[in-house]
Amino acid sequence: MAGVTVVGAGVIGLSVAHELAGAGHRVRILAAQDAAASTSGVAAAIWFPHDVQRSGSVLDSAAVTYKRFEELAGDPRTGVAMRAGTVLSRRTDADHSWTRAVPHHEPADPAGLPGGAGGVRCTVPLIQTDVYLAWLRAEVEARGVEIRTAEVRSLPEDCDAVVVAAGLRSAELLGDDDQAYPIRGQVVRLANPGLTEWITDEDNPEGLAYVVPRRHDVVCGGTGEAGSWDRTVDPEVEAGILRRVTALVPELAGQPILSRGVGLRPARSTVRVEAVPGHSRPVFACYGHGGAGFTLSWGDAARVAALIGAG
Ligand SMILES: Cc1cc2nc3c(=O)[nH]c(=O)nc-3n(C[C@H](O)[C@H](O)[C@H](O)COP(=O)(O)OP(=O)(O)OC[C@H]3O[C@@H](n4cnc5c(N)ncnc54)[C@H](O)[C@@H]3O)c2cc1C
Repeated sequence: MAGVTVVGAGVIGLSVAHELAGAGHRVRILAAQDAAASTSGVAAAIWFPHDVQRSGSVLDSAAVTYKRFEELAGDPRTGVAMRAGTVLSRRTDADHSWTRAVPHHEPADPAGLPGGAGGVRCTVPLIQTDVYLAWLRAEVEARGVEIRTAEVRSLPEDCDAVVVAAGLRSAELLGDDDQAYPIRGQVVRLANPGLTEWITDEDNPEGLAYVVPRRHDVVCGGTGEAGSWDRTVDPEVEAGILRRVTALVPELAGQPILSRGVGLRPARSTVRVEAVPGHSRPVFACYGHGGAGFTLSWGDAARVAALIGAG
């Protein structure tokens, strides 16, 4: 087959395929698992550049993605909604550089926050991952992209160009990268007692905490264990998460547990979006999005499309 082969059908591979097909390329996706079964299916997911370096290009991609999700929020079939919430900060030197990608934000009123904490209130896209990933896959297929289930062991030869968007396994496929690593994230999903606002608390002295209410549940996290490949749910870790989130949002106390999850964020010293030299045909990398794959998805997909050019 000629055209472009994208390896990976997580949020990154699907977004890249969408943009390439839109630019006139014939596109095929090869993926071992669909998005729901990959890290993308575990994400909370709100727009926020968590566990990723906040360089100028990352914040540019985050801003592009914010705008695209804001448009998608106008269509309830996408599973995207704009939701108000609070980014808590317990440190005086907290990095608020991300606010430049957010049109509406203001200092949070400390009266409603845990003692001594400050924060930023803002409205950001909330992506209901199960609905959104199914919608995105259908959009990609409607653009003529073939999605095939296949474990790729070496880069395909039967195409004009390859995009490696295989999350955490991208580095081993390319064989030229020793900077990728997992950051383990565990979540527990509770019944929603009627919450609509999200809250994140990255500097909580007891550990990372966030509460992201969705239509039928509330995603509660979390953990950020760099280097851990363990995908099993740890009951002790879960007990810690429940302690932290109920301290933040007391309405969660006693809510039934609906499901649990662990995902390995595909982290890297820097997000890798570039042409990869040394192959017999053009090869492009798009991975290493850490805890911000949804947040950067449309911006980085557009970067890949720009690198490859029109079809
Ligand atoms: C607990 C948790 C909470 C998160 N919350 C958020 C959030 O609120 N906001 C946000 O923006 N991000 C969040 N993230 C991060 C986000 O989930 C990731 O950055 C994103 O899912 C990465 O997408 P990806 O497509 O690169 O990788 P993945 O979703 O892992 O997809 C990789 C794809 O490549 C395929 N693949 C891999 N190897 C091969 C191979 N050899 N052959 C064929 N196919 C292969 C897989 O089968 C899969 O289809 C969170 C992550 C976790 C774990």
